[in-house]
Amino acid sequence: AAKSAGKDRAEIFHDGLLAAQLHRSRLSSELRTAVVADELTVAFQPIIDLRTGKVVSIEALSRWRREDGTVASPAEYITLAEQTGLIHEIGDHVLEQACRHGATWSRRHGVSIAVNVSAHQLHEEGYAERVFSVLTATGLPPSFLTLEVTESTIVGSGASGKFRLASDQLRRLRKQGVQVAVDDFGTGYSCLASLHTLPVDVVKLDRSFTALLDTDDNRGRFVHAIIELGLSLDLAVIAEGVETIDQHNRLRDSSCFLAQGYLFGRPMSGDIMATRLAHHSDSTTSSPVAIGHRH
Ligand code: C2E
Ligand code: MG
Ligand code: MG
Ligand code: MG
Repeated sequence: AAKSAGKDRAEIFHDGLLAAQLHRSRLSSELRTAVVADELTVAFQPIIDLRTGKVVSIEALSRWRREDGTVASPAEYITLAEQTGLIHEIGDHVLEQACRHGATWSRRHGVSIAVNVSAHQLHEEGYAERVFSVLTATGLPPSFLTLEVTESTIVGSGASGKFRLASDQLRRLRKQGVQVAVDDFGTGYSCLASLHTLPVDVVKLDRSFTALLDTDDNRGRFVHAIIELGLSLDLAVIAEGVETIDQHNRLRDSSCFLAQGYLFGRPMSGDIMATRLAHHSDSTTSSPVAIGHRH
């Protein structure tokens, strides 16, 4: 504060903008280099069927492993990647790696693989065709791929054609058997009204909803009602961010049998995931949920 004593508000504001701008442009050139230098990897997180305790699906999550060993989370660079157009390269890279692993895992363990797709990718012509060519190249059967999109990718106001393009591409993908999930369900606006009209197969309940299950008041009942709504529309419902046994039990009580969260496993490398899958198929008894599994 003392340092800026001589400056007026506008100048301080301007300095802040410059600093943010500088940070953004540095990050953006770092990211560009990272894509070329192959510093972008993928982490995998299991999705569990609570009835059997078995892994039924695996979500691929982008990671940026910098030269100095630090790992950046997608929250730090996905938006920037969307603004700079790098999202297409990053998205293709995640899709290829995910499908390559998914081809092996689906064959050996019957699990499917889920990949996050940015609105920018689906709003571009030719995305569906790229997915088809990756499926062909990797040998992953289409029905073992789930594309996770947020509601705002397919639902939008106005006459803009990009929402129609996104929906059309999803329809074409679904026709070949690819599954589509609404990610972070509950954080958008039009969720309840539009759910039955969307070209989707799966609803992923946002973590903030899962957390409300712990409450015994209206909020908890509201989440139960959302789960029932999804199930009544014949959608698979997956709870995100399950961290406690109490949440696990409450989900089971409300017939939400698919769950993902730290309780079952944090995002992990492909190698560790492969080991975990092999270990679980080895056991003849239906193995209990690996609570507290550490990675
Ligand atoms: P998301 O698709 O909703 O993915 C779930 C996020 O929740 C992941 O964060 C995961 O690590 C985190 N998570 C899982 N279980 C728990 C839990 O029990 N507790 C808590 N607190 N968090 C949990 P992550 O990996 O940092 O990814 C954040 C978001 O970045 C993703 O949210 C997704 O929207 C986006 N993202 C990640 N990878 C990609 C990608 O390849 N492409 C695109 N377009 N977006 C991606
Ligand atoms: Mg997701
Ligand atoms: Mg999600
Ligand atoms: Mg989420």
